[in-house]
This record gives sequence, C-alpha cells and structure tokens, in this order.
Amino acid sequence: MFTGQCMCGQVRYEVHGPLRDVIACHCEQCRRVSSHYVAATAAHSKDLTITRDRGLAWYEETRSIRRGFCRLCGSTLFFDHGPDHPTGIAAGSLDDAGDLRLAVHIWTEEAGSYYDLPADAPHRTSAEWRAGGLWDPLSWTDGSPGGAAGAGRRA
Ligand SMILES: [Zn+2]
Ligand SMILES: [Zn+2]
Repeated sequence: MFTGQCMCGQVRYEVHGPLRDVIACHCEQCRRVSSHYVAATAAHSKDLTITRDRGLAWYEETRSIRRGFCRLCGSTLFFDHGPDHPTGIAAGSLDDAGDLRLAVHIWTEEAGSYYDLPADAPHRTSAEWRAGGLWDPLSWTDGSPGGAAGAGRRA
C-alpha cells in the first residue's frame, strides 16, 4: 500500500494497488500550476481511496480533465482523466515513493525557456506522445506494462 498527503495534511489518500512509473509533464498548464513541471505517478481509480478530504477541491481544466488540489495549502495532488483511465497522482505527495522512477519527460515543446530538460529520461513532444505506443515503456510497480492501461494525456 502507498500513502500520501498534501503539505498541510488535510487531504490524505491510500493506494491499494500498483503505481505507474512517474512522468514529468512540461505543458504550459503544468508549468503554471506548479511553477515548474509536474511529476506524476498514477493509480487505477478503483485502488485510490481518499481518507481525508477536508482540503480537497477540484479544478475542471477541460470537460475531461480535473485537477485535484488542497484548497487550504495549495498542493497539487490529483489528475482525473475519467473512470476509464488511471488517476494521476503528484509524485511528490507520496509519503514513500519506494522504487518509483521518473520514466519520461512529455510535452517538452512547452517547457519553460529558463531551464534545460533533464537528461535522466527520454523526451517526448506532445505529438510524439499522442502518436501512441509511447506509454509502453511505462511500467507499474506490480510489473504490469503501461500500454493501453496508461492511456490518457498530460499528467
Ligand atoms: Zn493541504
Ligand atoms: Zn501537463
């Protein structure tokens, strides 16, 4: 089981299942919401339980994407792409990230001009990422492949 929380502790969650490799999203929205770029793992939505929600609020970014955050301390927490997709979870909100690794940098063409893209993982533009098959290098902590189970966009 994995657990995590926002900075102030008024949102807590548990994941009773595997987590996906971490992706770093450099899109404009992630840059603005985080002041840099967003590093997100993901859980199958059925495995994610919110155990404290006093601070939890949702921002509807588009009709199909909601960003969950703590309205008390401002922490970025969740990325909901609908019930058919894993729920993104801010990697930095985990209490213990275990062996999770950052696997890919995406939306690289929108990265801020003030930094160089890290060389710790491959880089993918949004077009490359959308082209399909690129989720395949991602794996889950239980050993299952990324593939279609990882489908979705951005963080
Ligand atoms: Zn909080
Ligand atoms: Zn993004």
